[in-house]
Amino acid sequence: MLNPIRLLLLGPPGAGKGTQTTKLLKQFPNLKTVSSGDILRQHIRNGTRIGVLASQFIKQGKLVPDELITKLVFKHLSTFNDSWILDGFPRTFIQAQNLSQYLNPLNRDISLVIELDVPDSVIMSRIEERWVHLPSGRTYNDTYSKPKVPGLDDITGEPLVKRSDDNKLAMQTRLKEYKTTTAPLKQFYKDRGILTTISGDSSDVIFPILLDAILEKSREAL
Ligand code: ATP
Ligand code: MG
Repeated sequence: MLNPIRLLLLGPPGAGKGTQTTKLLKQFPNLKTVSSGDILRQHIRNGTRIGVLASQFIKQGKLVPDELITKLVFKHLSTFNDSWILDGFPRTFIQAQNLSQYLNPLNRDISLVIELDVPDSVIMSRIEERWVHLPSGRTYNDTYSKPKVPGLDDITGEPLVKRSDDNKLAMQTRLKEYKTTTAPLKQFYKDRGILTTISGDSSDVIFPILLDAILEKSREAL
């Protein structure tokens, strides 16, 4: 019997957090998951007040304010059960502290943090080839994971689009911002002994290692 797993996937933009999450959901269909970027893109798409505010930051490759994203993610987390994956949140030290303060009293703090370490050069070329189905967050890539019909989502047949921040300029800011903001975040989880890094150039190389790390963790005595 496996123990609950509460995983945070860390990694620079385009590292494949979403792709790995999709693969993990196939193995563990009971897992719940939330992607902070997907929530924000939904708001933008629906033209909500939050969306209008967030898009100003996102377009430039900057982070949205901590309080804004914390509130949005907590709303999802409150509906989750024992096992889940977080993609894109927490992203700053403050967010990590807030999350710990929220989960600790519930005895449900993050049990494993995995950083996907992918070279900048691979990331830059992936981003240029990335297409997204906004309503679901599903992503495609012109080389590795083409849609069955060019330009259309495999499941709904709806159109794929480019993200407003998937361009060279915003990407450079996002990569730089990632490195600065995650250093203290990684230290926070390293101090707790739950940080693991997996390096690789492709999602297919990373996935089996990720799966092993999760299985090993979930077999540990609680
Ligand atoms: P990927 O390309 O793998 O999706 P990413 O980190 O660039 O990675 P998202 O996680 O989708 O992209 O986030 C897109 C944007 O949404 C970020 O650049 C930022 O502006 C905002 N955002 C998402 N999560 C957070 C967060 N936890 N805190 C602050 N801003 C966030
Ligand atoms: Mg993502």
